[in-house]
Amino acid sequence: MDFKIKLSSPHMSGDELKYIQDALDSNWVAPVGNNIICFERDLEAYLGENSHVTALSSGTAAIHLALVMAGVKEGDAVICQSLTFAASAFPILYQKAIAVFVDSEKDTWNMDPVLLEEAIQDRIAKGKKPKAIIVIHIFGMPAKMDELLQVSKKYDIPLIEDAAEALGSTYKGQKCGTFGDFGILSFNGNKMITTSGGGALICKDEKLKQKAIFLATQAKDDAIWYEHSEIGFNYRLSNISAGIGRGQMQVLDDYIERRRQTNLFYKTLFQPYDFVQVLSEPSSNFCSNYWLTCIQMESNKNNKTSLGLLKHLEENHIESKPLWKPLHLQPIFKNCLFYGKGVAEDIFKKGLCLPSGSNLTETDKAFIAEVVLEYLDACHLE
Ligand SMILES: *Cc1c(COP(=O)(O)O)cnc(C)c1O
Repeated sequence: MDFKIKLSSPHMSGDELKYIQDALDSNWVAPVGNNIICFERDLEAYLGENSHVTALSSGTAAIHLALVMAGVKEGDAVICQSLTFAASAFPILYQKAIAVFVDSEKDTWNMDPVLLEEAIQDRIAKGKKPKAIIVIHIFGMPAKMDELLQVSKKYDIPLIEDAAEALGSTYKGQKCGTFGDFGILSFNGNKMITTSGGGALICKDEKLKQKAIFLATQAKDDAIWYEHSEIGFNYRLSNISAGIGRGQMQVLDDYIERRRQTNLFYKTLFQPYDFVQVLSEPSSNFCSNYWLTCIQMESNKNNKTSLGLLKHLEENHIESKPLWKPLHLQPIFKNCLFYGKGVAEDIFKKGLCLPSGSNLTETDKAFIAEVVLEYLDACHLE
């Protein structure tokens, strides 16, 4: 399908080429060089105190390294939010560890802290304490970090924060990705900013960052020849990609503002329809970058559904997408444990992600509004 209006597509600032050119001119085109150092510094300055950032080839690679650094090994249990993209949990399988999924709460759609504790207690009762917890800030909405951190500390289990969708989102004024023992970011093409493909691992101190770089560059021990005493990975970001990242960092705050404006646009659009809810910040403690604006549609007597709206948008060349299908319902994870009460499943069934890119124009929005209202109007008139 050739969509005229996309869900979330790359949006260049114009300065990327300058940094790419620097890399080419200096011949630092591999995964070493000034752009990498500067991009990491930009991210560290942006994220705030105690964030030590390693630029990597993807967000998935960052989660994998976080698990390795948290000591996750074959047969260990790792707890992960069920309502997320599969990349949050695939690295658990790379480590031959066991994924244990936990349901969402209704306020932020992220991991339910009460169910997290239940899952931990049950796993301990069955003889094995989980090795790590992966919390997601889904669609950019911050999770209930105070409650989740409290559980992670109480049971002394490292918390990995998947902030792939949440660059710039804050909880109580602190940037998402900086709460956990490790945080991860993604710079894939559809995320807040892109490096054409890339990610980052956020560590709490410089020693951990150096360890991450060591592991991401094939774990070469200090010797004249290639000496290896640990498993290494080829996970570093290229210096050319980091150049794109530097250009993108200059416009990040502007892009967040644009996505927040788009969220407001949708709230106004759906306001007269009480069977449509837009996912919103539960209180002033939460500030979402609104990476994607998501709605919930209760099918009413006219049988208007989120899938119906998706199809109607598609006929008009507007892209929308169902929410992430909960991972405990995915064939690849079908044998995994799940602690929950059907909240994620219900959110998934009623949900839809709407076009939210920072490059949406006013003309795009007017057209989206027209097409959405066309679909909803029959019930509105009743
Ligand atoms: C995009 C995404 C990832 C993976 O990031 P990549 O850079 O695409 O590997 C992980 N988790 C979530 C929640 C994501 O949305």
